[in-house]
Amino acid sequence: MNIIIFGPPGAGKGTQSNFLKEDLKMNQISTGDLLRNELKKESELSKQIRNIMDAGKLVSDKIIYDLIEDKISDINIKNKMIFDGFPRNIEQAKNLEIMLKKHDQNLSKVLNLKVDYSVLIKRISGRISCPVCKSTYNEYFDPPPQNCKENKMIKRSDDNEETVTKRLKTYDNETLPLLEYYKNQNKVINIDAMKQIDEVRKEIKGVLKD
Ligand code: ADP
Ligand code: ADP
Repeated sequence: MNIIIFGPPGAGKGTQSNFLKEDLKMNQISTGDLLRNELKKESELSKQIRNIMDAGKLVSDKIIYDLIEDKISDINIKNKMIFDGFPRNIEQAKNLEIMLKKHDQNLSKVLNLKVDYSVLIKRISGRISCPVCKSTYNEYFDPPPQNCKENKMIKRSDDNEETVTKRLKTYDNETLPLLEYYKNQNKVINIDAMKQIDEVRKEIKGVLKD
């Protein structure tokens, strides 16, 4: 089973993908994380990527495909993939189908994390991650455990109100139309992502068992 975890920035895609790794032994493929890894390289390309990410826009499809194809062709994670933050436009969705087919796989479901936009700014502005264990927590909703507390938590440079507003616009214009696209393929399962983190986890586990 390969699935997409879908929703606006701050909906909880990364948080729930992490649980799916534990609960169903699936593998998270987050294009955001893959891009942030590229940024560590300090190349000309990484400068370009950083500017686009900080402007809340989408980086070019070509860059994304190069990162993704490496994963889709990996036999060790075949049919156990969660796509987090990908696809983000119709073109990427079509390409995902082609890449999966090429590697003898398909897409089973799209989990649509439904949230009111009113909570997103607070979720994102409170998002922190531990530099040691790399887990994501939240200053308001999900404080880090004791063993992470001594570490200086990291905030993403694009998690400020100005960039988030732009990211939400990009989401509405370019990514949201994908929902219709996947509804037409009968792949969408709606999840109430307004609930507490653990409740959302249970709901997702439940629907994936069916
Ligand atoms: P996304 O990957 O969709 O951008 P994250 O999983 O990184 O979202 O979650 C964004 C922030 O909101 C994180 O700080 C996370 O701890 C917090 N969060 C995630 N799900 C919930 C929830 N159901 N209720 C409250 N806070 C949440
Ligand atoms: P969030 O989980 O909060 O939505 P991500 O970590 O998925 O944020 O993405 C951060 C940024 O990386 C995006 O705002 C965008 O600039 C870039 N990005 C991530 N995934 C893609 C993608 N599939 N296509 C184009 N740009 C992407």
